[in-house]
Amino acid sequence: MSRLAQLRALLRWRELRARIGACPFCGPTLLLRLARDELALRCLRCGASAVHLSLGWAIRDRVGALRGLDVCELSARGPLVAFLRREAATASLSEYVEGAAPGEVRGGVRCEDVQHLSYADACFDLCTSTEVLEHVPSDADAFAELRRVLRPGGVLLFTVPLGEQPSTRERARLWEGRVEHLRPPAYHGDPLRPGVGILCYRDYGRDIVDRLRAAGFDRAAILPRDPRVPWGLGREVILASRAPSP
Ligand SMILES: [Zn+2]
Repeated sequence: MSRLAQLRALLRWRELRARIGACPFCGPTLLLRLARDELALRCLRCGASAVHLSLGWAIRDRVGALRGLDVCELSARGPLVAFLRREAATASLSEYVEGAAPGEVRGGVRCEDVQHLSYADACFDLCTSTEVLEHVPSDADAFAELRRVLRPGGVLLFTVPLGEQPSTRERARLWEGRVEHLRPPAYHGDPLRPGVGILCYRDYGRDIVDRLRAAGFDRAAILPRDPRVPWGLGREVILASRAPSP
């Protein structure tokens, strides 16, 4: 679907709001709220959503200029990817494709499973992802892999749907190669597979920082919603980092 068609599909005229603001990727812009829904907030210039704007501000504030940095992002298209390609020294981009070998290239896109990345140890300064890790059967493996590929001093910034409950609730698990549902299955929309949802393995709670520390990160924190994303639609961003080498 073209960007215009996407915007038109989201639009509810009575809920339409516009505000002059800023985008972490393209600077001064017009921000649109096409409906009363976080998915319907867009930067008019680059099309960034509330999730991308929130992550973008976290990168600007917590990492700063990306010039000279090697960045890994767990997607291969969209406004965040365009920004990373433009600003970072290198941007290693990938998608998860079922059945593809880690590192295999399909249709010009590198395939990676975050539980078994094919990247070398300590080769990135920044890893990012949006709305990926709740769909991964073993987030412990994924967090350990993301820590492995980060250099000392490196930073992981990502978003997942994050609730207010203290503990993460597991919704499903992989058991002997099959999905076992522990709660009624929940699926999220996937832009790569229109009409087909992807299974959500868990509902994260505030203990996500403990899960990151258990995977070996030296520091983990939940960054508050950024007021530069208007209408209260900013998302919390999760930060985890490796201590710099002594
Ligand atoms: Zn923008």
